[in-house]
Amino acid sequence: MADMADLNPIPDLLAGLYDGLAGDQSGEVATYIPQLSHADPSWFGIALATLDGHVYPAGAAERTFTIQSVSKPFVYALALAGCGLDAVIERIGVEPSGDAFNAIRLEPQTGRPPNPMVNAGAILTTSLVSWERIRAGLGAFAGRDLDIDLAVYDSERLTGDRNRAIAYLMRNAGSLTTDVDETLDVYFRQCAILVTARDLAVMAATLANAGVNPITGVAVVGPDVAADVLTVMATCGMYDFAGEWLLRVGLPAKSGVSGGIAAALPGQFGIGLFSPPLDARGNSVRAIAACEELSARFGLHLMRSPDSSVPSLADVVTARTVRSSAARTRTERDILTRSGGAITIRGILGDLGFATAERLVREIAEHLDGVSWIVLDLDRVGRLHPVAERLLDTLASRLADAGVTTVVTDRSSRGLLSYPDRQFVTRDEALTWCEDALLRRVTGTH
Ligand code: GLU
Repeated sequence: MADMADLNPIPDLLAGLYDGLAGDQSGEVATYIPQLSHADPSWFGIALATLDGHVYPAGAAERTFTIQSVSKPFVYALALAGCGLDAVIERIGVEPSGDAFNAIRLEPQTGRPPNPMVNAGAILTTSLVSWERIRAGLGAFAGRDLDIDLAVYDSERLTGDRNRAIAYLMRNAGSLTTDVDETLDVYFRQCAILVTARDLAVMAATLANAGVNPITGVAVVGPDVAADVLTVMATCGMYDFAGEWLLRVGLPAKSGVSGGIAAALPGQFGIGLFSPPLDARGNSVRAIAACEELSARFGLHLMRSPDSSVPSLADVVTARTVRSSAARTRTERDILTRSGGAITIRGILGDLGFATAERLVREIAEHLDGVSWIVLDLDRVGRLHPVAERLLDTLASRLADAGVTTVVTDRSSRGLLSYPDRQFVTRDEALTWCEDALLRRVTGTH
């Protein structure tokens, strides 16, 4: 029998992607940081990290390279976590600039850089976070301690006059308030942090996983910060190719001049790629092509990943036909057969997002004739999106006003809803409780 691992199609799929692009010789390795020019143009690695912590590698997924600009979204995440979104936006805009990464263009009156993904904004972002926090934070995103490449750091420090110019301009305009040399020293160190394609995949997967590293389980940043960072990656992450990238590939991503790209599909996976030859805009040729192919072949575009649109309602039954296991007398059984229509039971399946919850609340609201008790069996519900929780909670409180009791079942007692009238562990307990209430009402006992 074949090795079980061979049956999984994903490794072959990534290997196929790798094989198809490895021969592409186009693009140029970056040379403006002299040390980067030593990169071998044939290096090519891909890694895909799932949100339950499995990593699929292909090619040179374990080869280290300096992270360069792919550090920017992660340091931005740390700045947001430390200072809050409003305070950070006041200092650094979030408008795609359409300019090259090292453009010298600031907001005329304030000196505010356009966004945190170009150098000016990234240098200002770095000024908001300490080096210790950057190193530890990026390590937490990757799930391991990260080293720095001192040769690349030195090389950039000695030649980084354009970044120095940008920093002095911001300092002159009053937008950068820290010491230029100290801030750039941290910025150059941050760019020289050594990662692999595998690391970038896990880092991106952490953002896709609402800020929780899927391998270590550590909540590196909160879910709001993760969503904010993915948003800025989507609009500004790919240099002056950001708009076309979002259109063609549709994944929040960030690239860097050493040839790395980290991309994520929120709630699904993270992917890391590395190949040094760059196109004219500074994006890795093979990494871009791999993402384009992956997205097109599997329909992974952000705007195409739908909230589950399958019917989430597994069954609707009434106590007329479905009974609890409670022992009932003949008279009680007769009552339940006659009046059991007053108790409806709905088994709900899958994730509840806006579309599925809307359908559910509409369906419930339209079928209330003669109903006094509603059992919502949420046991097989995966994720309850906040909008779904709001809709169901509001419906439950309106039903209560209308004299209809809502009862929720959930074996794992996750507290899926805040305001049901009663919460039970099993459907049988819920049904027993409703039957008892119905019997009391019909027989006039209390
Ligand atoms: N250290 C590089 C610089 O600031 C990063 C550039 C990049 O990767 O886009 O020039």
